[in-house]
Amino acid sequence: MGHAYIDLLVEDYMQFIEALRLRSKLFFLFILITIGLFSIGIMGAININSMKKNLDALYFGSLVPVTELNEMLQTYHNGLSSTLYKAKNSEISTFTTANELEHSLTKIKKLWLSYESHFKRDEELQYVEYVALEIKVVNRYFLKLLRAARNDTDMSGVSIVSLEKYVSHIHTVLQKLINYEVNMARYERKKFLQIYDSAIFKLGLILGLIILAVLIISYSVFASIQSDQTRLELATKKLKRLNKKLENVSYTDTLTDMHNRRYFNLVYERELKRAKRTHSHITFMMLDIDYFKQYNDTYGHLEGDNALKTVANVLVETLRRPSDFVFRLGGEEFGVLLTQTDESSSANLAREICDVVRGKEIEHKGSKVNDYLTISIGVVCCIADDALNEDILISRADEMLYEAKETGRDRYVITSNVSESKAQSIEDMTA
Ligand code: GH3
Ligand code: MG
Ligand code: MG
Repeated sequence: MGHAYIDLLVEDYMQFIEALRLRSKLFFLFILITIGLFSIGIMGAININSMKKNLDALYFGSLVPVTELNEMLQTYHNGLSSTLYKAKNSEISTFTTANELEHSLTKIKKLWLSYESHFKRDEELQYVEYVALEIKVVNRYFLKLLRAARNDTDMSGVSIVSLEKYVSHIHTVLQKLINYEVNMARYERKKFLQIYDSAIFKLGLILGLIILAVLIISYSVFASIQSDQTRLELATKKLKRLNKKLENVSYTDTLTDMHNRRYFNLVYERELKRAKRTHSHITFMMLDIDYFKQYNDTYGHLEGDNALKTVANVLVETLRRPSDFVFRLGGEEFGVLLTQTDESSSANLAREICDVVRGKEIEHKGSKVNDYLTISIGVVCCIADDALNEDILISRADEMLYEAKETGRDRYVITSNVSESKAQSIEDMTA
């Protein structure tokens, strides 16, 4: 039993460890999900940030500059060149010419300033500086014409050749910058799409890995819960078996293998209640070996034990009905509980037990009543009712046993009187 208890304790401990493992697995799962979500968040933020920069570069670094440069180009053609054509042909006054030229030059200056303020790559800067110089040179030419118009100079003398030369030069210079910016925009767009694709791929990969890890860990958690469950079921079964064993041990007399006094107490209470409920017969017998002290003295304790076993066997073999219960109550005393057995049947059984024990012919020189081992039995048999006292059956059986001893032993005495007062009308049915 001790071993079994230690086993159970060890098992308890193992289960505790297993539960800890399960907890750490769940904790790990939680950590993993958290880390996963964090990294997705950080990755997303980083990628979105770089995409934003990209978009910024695409929009403010290339698209807006392209529009600005285009507008500048348009102003050189429409604002400056065509105004001067009209002035040369005297289609507009010098005042209008001056105004138009001033307006266009201011516009160009503003557009260029705005263009210059945008982010510029290093390789771009050199060319931008060159363009700025060229613009200055070209604008100086137009400023000269503006001043002339202000001074009301006749504009018909304007040289178409130089005008064409300056305009076509600045056109080439600006167009080159525009082409560069357009190419940059294309490049930025490509880069943006690449970053976008790789971000989508990376996010998908991380998400996939996390889902996979969560699935694997969930499966392992599930499996360990399952195995815990199985182990718990096995442990419960084992515990039940052990309990049953323990119960059997605690209810069994080791010498005779029959039920002991503990079990008698249990059965007695149960059967008495049942008999009371159904108002049926209940019989209790108290058995005691005659001159057993002398038997031990003559044949030794070991032989005495053997005699006890023989008597126990007689009881077990004689009383075979499921409603018959036999017990070793202690020492060389036995108890018999019969249900649904009337007085005459009980008396017959008591007589039979005495006869069979005597019939075993166990030599007993020290006995004063027989050459062989004999027993005396006190029997009480009655119909149980609510008024029946719990202890009266036992005390009355005891009294009947005393009676049997007093009146010569190797016999039974039976009564059906279970009134509290000392028995008056003992039915003396000696064997
Ligand atoms: P009586 O006819 O009046 O019953 O005489 P008795 O000698 O049997 O007297 P009692 O019932 O008082 O004696 C009980 C004896 O039973 C005492 C003890 O030596 C013996 N005994 C009790 N338990 C055991 C046991 O487990 N083994 C053996 N061998 N003897 C036992
Ligand atoms: Mg005794
Ligand atoms: Mg005795």
